[in-house]
Amino acid sequence: MKTKESFLRQLPSVDELLKEAAVLKWLEEHPRALVLQALRTAVDEKRKVILEIEKQAVPQSPAPSPQPSEILNRAEEILNTLSQLNLRPVINATGVIVHTNLGRSILSESAVKNIEAVAKGYSNLEYDIEKGERGKRYTHIEKLLCRLTGAEAGLVVNNNAAAVLIALNTIAQNKEVIVSRGELVEIGGSFRIPEVMERSNAKLREVGATNKTHLKDYEKAVNDNTALLLKVHTSNYKIVGFAKEVSISELVDLGKKRGLPVMFDLGSGCLIDLRKYGIEGEPTVSDAVAACADVITFSGDKLLGGPQAGLIVGKKKYVDMIASNPLARAIRIDKLTLAGLEATLREYLDGEKAVKEIPTLNMLCQPLSEIEKKAIYIADGLKGVGSKLGVSVIDETSQSGGGALPLVSLLTKVVAILSNNLSAARLEEMLRKNNPPIISRIKEGRILLDPRTIQRDELDTVINSIKGIASRL
Ligand SMILES: *Cc1c(COP(=O)(O)O)cnc(C)c1O
Repeated sequence: MKTKESFLRQLPSVDELLKEAAVLKWLEEHPRALVLQALRTAVDEKRKVILEIEKQAVPQSPAPSPQPSEILNRAEEILNTLSQLNLRPVINATGVIVHTNLGRSILSESAVKNIEAVAKGYSNLEYDIEKGERGKRYTHIEKLLCRLTGAEAGLVVNNNAAAVLIALNTIAQNKEVIVSRGELVEIGGSFRIPEVMERSNAKLREVGATNKTHLKDYEKAVNDNTALLLKVHTSNYKIVGFAKEVSISELVDLGKKRGLPVMFDLGSGCLIDLRKYGIEGEPTVSDAVAACADVITFSGDKLLGGPQAGLIVGKKKYVDMIASNPLARAIRIDKLTLAGLEATLREYLDGEKAVKEIPTLNMLCQPLSEIEKKAIYIADGLKGVGSKLGVSVIDETSQSGGGALPLVSLLTKVVAILSNNLSAARLEEMLRKNNPPIISRIKEGRILLDPRTIQRDELDTVINSIKGIASRL
């Protein structure tokens, strides 16, 4: 039998491997540093295997003679992983439309086109083409935003958390802001109204109880140091049962009486009335404007369906004050976002077109029959895997997600997959580690794929990926 030394000596060196035809080809397509890293890792792994086997007093199996082809195969696998972009597309089969972990909203064709156009060349980001002089980046969407919401003025910043921060800092620095205890929300673990309030240097004055707040609670709390009445849309939960909240119009009336501005943090920023599509419970931005709130803040990438942004609309006096806060520069929106946002907002000039063209709205309002068609298409495509996986189409519910419409469960049809010899957790993992990753959910020992959030051009990829997984079972 050969000795350990001889096996180790037979291990090819990285320099030798670099002369292999396959490796020369890799070097044409990949950075040398990554090719070297892949080769070194593969050789190291092999060395460890040899040493491990030789360590055993009585080897259970003879140490394998190191084959260059085996090492090259492994190196290629490593190289492929190293060459993959970290941030990359995944297929969302969860049925959660505005999935914060999966990038919230996906953009409309026109938004993507406009982003590409603005990214590729110079633009009039801060240049007034009419006058031939310096312009402002905010003017590109202000008129559009006002037209769509009925507001006097508008401004965009990096995200809604930033919008809330700068609005509070501008209007209520070192002063009190009155908020209902039932509206001290936490969004996604890192945004909490009391904490943002603290960082804005405004003082939180909580009123009412968790389940009930009355107008008189706000009235009693107003004092010389009050700067603002704040209402927060409890977007991701709802207190039901013995509950009472004060409406934005009631707060506006109180604000008028006491000479105080009123702000409404809407969260989702729905621009169309979803009741037409059978979805109740989400206030629109226009409703808040019509109720005469002075400042209204909302996200660009929740139900609005655009890129990440924080939109501020309301009375010109306050929007101007916020725009001239030095913080505005620190949280300003970038040109690519602005390009995507303008194109998204333009879709809303025709509400019906918006529902067709903006993927978030389209998925939200998708008729059950269309979802069922996609589910059946997937199930039919998987007919061949019958012996290894049990595939069926069943009734389920999807969610809006993104901290909106917490009580709305949208009827859907999902593809349920059951494996005879694999746990659902393992199957979920294989789908997740697929290329592209397919994110699914597990219920009662089965994998569920919700076609509501699977795009049409992803259906075949889903089918082929599952077939590939089945063939390896
Ligand atoms: C989501 C949300 C926020 C935070 O918005 P981001 O765009 O995530 O920064 C703030 N307030 C409310 C009520 C929300 O729903």
